[in-house]
Amino acid sequence: MSELTHYIGGKHVNGTSGRFADVYNPATGEVQARTPLASKAELDAAVANAAAAQPAWAALNPQKRARVLMKFVDLLHRDMDKLAEALSREHGKTIPDAKGDVIRGLEVAEFCFGAPHLLKGEFTEGAGPGIDMYSLRQPLGVVAGITPFNFPAMIPMWKFCPAIAAGNAFILKPSERDPSVPLMLAELMSEAGLPDGILNVVNGDKESVDAILDHPEIMAVGFVGSTPIAEYIYSRGCANGKRVQCFGGAKNHMIIMPDADMDQAVDALIGAGYGAAGERCMAISVAVPVGEETADRLVEKLAPRVEALKIGPYTAGDDVDFGPLVTAQARERVLGLVNSGVEQGADLVVDGRQFSMQGYENGYFIGGCLFDRVTRDMDIYKQEIFGPVLSVVRADDYEDALRLPMEHEYGNGTAIFTRDGDAARDFVSRINIGMVGVNVPIPVPLAYHTFGGWKKSGFGDLNQHGPDAFRFYTRTKTVTSRWPSGIKDGAEFVIPTMR
Ligand code: NAD
Repeated sequence: MSELTHYIGGKHVNGTSGRFADVYNPATGEVQARTPLASKAELDAAVANAAAAQPAWAALNPQKRARVLMKFVDLLHRDMDKLAEALSREHGKTIPDAKGDVIRGLEVAEFCFGAPHLLKGEFTEGAGPGIDMYSLRQPLGVVAGITPFNFPAMIPMWKFCPAIAAGNAFILKPSERDPSVPLMLAELMSEAGLPDGILNVVNGDKESVDAILDHPEIMAVGFVGSTPIAEYIYSRGCANGKRVQCFGGAKNHMIIMPDADMDQAVDALIGAGYGAAGERCMAISVAVPVGEETADRLVEKLAPRVEALKIGPYTAGDDVDFGPLVTAQARERVLGLVNSGVEQGADLVVDGRQFSMQGYENGYFIGGCLFDRVTRDMDIYKQEIFGPVLSVVRADDYEDALRLPMEHEYGNGTAIFTRDGDAARDFVSRINIGMVGVNVPIPVPLAYHTFGGWKKSGFGDLNQHGPDAFRFYTRTKTVTSRWPSGIKDGAEFVIPTMR
């Protein structure tokens, strides 16, 4: 069993708190490493290091900062297999899906090549007599990111690439479930030429998170994880005067109109519902067929596809659809929710509860589950399950279908499958959800657009990646400048206006 470290000041640093968390291989159930859990003192030391390094980094011209990210992207490609293997070993997702996790982060690093352009301010010549007015986007100083287990490469990169490209120093507190890939990313950033102290990985749990939230020198915190923790971090960080953005849980509905191409809709639901064992914030967990006839056709086509899902460890090769859940507790929680669905009267059309992986009996596997006739009062409808479980909620008509995602507390993603452009336009316009797909089941925006949910899926006013990330990790300074012209006007006692 290996002992992991922190990464502070450009090198691996052993934990000194004496507290550790076990890191499992979810396919076998074995403990494969332990990660240190930082104390407040360790976090404070990392921040001091970052604060000392940041001014010189900010003073470097933005093109040179962007070139570090260019080199970083080359190194990610070079080490893709190694990164994917380490990611799958701790998370459980398949190797192709782990590569997707790295690539979706890498694409944000590529977007940050444009930092020199993205950091440009505005300029007005002659805003008044002899007066020019302009704005600058300046880095905040030391900023932090707190990230979840389900995308241990992508989400850390969504946070640190724009922050660092903008001239900040960064403290990353990754998930304690799969901390190896974040450490590898920090090593690669050093190899790419990032000065020591600009990217620090502090492993930990609530103690280090609270130390981040209370640290006076950390100016901004970006969080991704479950909604209760998102709300906690948002309120405590804001109360301490920080800039905070928090992205939380989800319950993503896909509406299937009677005119939809049913084979296309079923393919979409299988991939979006069961990929990564449902452990994606953009997974589709609720299918809403419109009309009884549509529902019958959908369930008839879905059930054999769910039964045929190929489940296995990441080592089984590319022919596996999804792997185990991340921990034994996650598996217990999902099983508990499936049991509650049965008890509360939903129709469990495909029951994956008894699934056991031969040779991997101690792994955290669960088979795909499909519920029909789920109603909005059931726990499986109200809660985010975060497992390979799809619920079919039958709607009488379009308005009935629309009300479901509209009235749900989460608002991350949603989709409509239809051939009717008018229905699709109406849906896009009226739905109160941050990311919408039209015949696209997982509408995750690309790196140059922004990603963010509404309602209980997102707290704060700016999204992740795209131009918003540069706004979040910089502050605007506006300058009004007049050079002596020889004209002396005397003192002005009235607030200046451009009459
Ligand atoms: P989590 O909330 O348990 O953990 C997220 C982070 O918060 C981790 O770094 C963890 O160490 C820290 N944390 C956990 N408990 C804490 C506490 N009591 N006090 C302070 N910090 C604490 O989330 P998770 O299980 O790692 O990730 C899954 C969740 O993340 C799901 O709800 C999923 O929908 C959500 N998610 C959302 C998005 C999005 O963009 N909206 C993206 C990915 C995942």
